[in-house]
Amino acid sequence: MEKSTSRGASSAPAKKISKSSSVNGKSQMNNPGGESSLMEEFFLDALKDIYWAEKHLLKALPKLQKAATSTELKESFANHTEVTKNQVMRLEQVFEIMGKKPQAKKCDAMEGLTKEAEGIIEDTQQGSMTRDAALIMAAQKVEHYEIATYGGLKQLAKTLGKTDLSDIFDQTLTEEKEADELLTNIAETKINIEATQE
Ligand code: FE
Ligand code: ZN
Ligand code: FE
Ligand code: FE
Repeated sequence: MEKSTSRGASSAPAKKISKSSSVNGKSQMNNPGGESSLMEEFFLDALKDIYWAEKHLLKALPKLQKAATSTELKESFANHTEVTKNQVMRLEQVFEIMGKKPQAKKCDAMEGLTKEAEGIIEDTQQGSMTRDAALIMAAQKVEHYEIATYGGLKQLAKTLGKTDLSDIFDQTLTEEKEADELLTNIAETKINIEATQE
């Protein structure tokens, strides 16, 4: 199923884009020297998107940490802040391998997800476990978005033959899954139970 069939984009057989001669990445022509396909352009865009998203999250996580009630959740946000810093550096490494300058492009999804998390702080009572239960749900929505993104990037990199990049995405994917599982764990063993007693 991941057999690089370039179907669906257009019926035109030419799929190479000349970087030097295309003004806005739209002009298609045969160029033996060109390196960038439509797929590779999308790949780079997706990279810029998640780069913006991780950096944005880096600003939101300390706010969530401060707002959380329990030590467990505070620690989990603090820990994921450090993990996220590393993930940002990993993305910069990917840009470097691709010979590109790191560039961020606004991720509407992450903007919305962090807005939602900050809305929960406003809508829940300070010092309550209900706030923590709600923050965990919001944080897990973020992790699931990241899991979807890194899963997709990993697979695309693999299909494009960029195994080094797919390995890098896989490291981050594993961390996002761990973060998600940790949140499930503290919700199930403590926070949700205490929240239902409020
Ligand atoms: Fe992340
Ligand atoms: Zn995104
Ligand atoms: Fe996005
Ligand atoms: Fe994450």
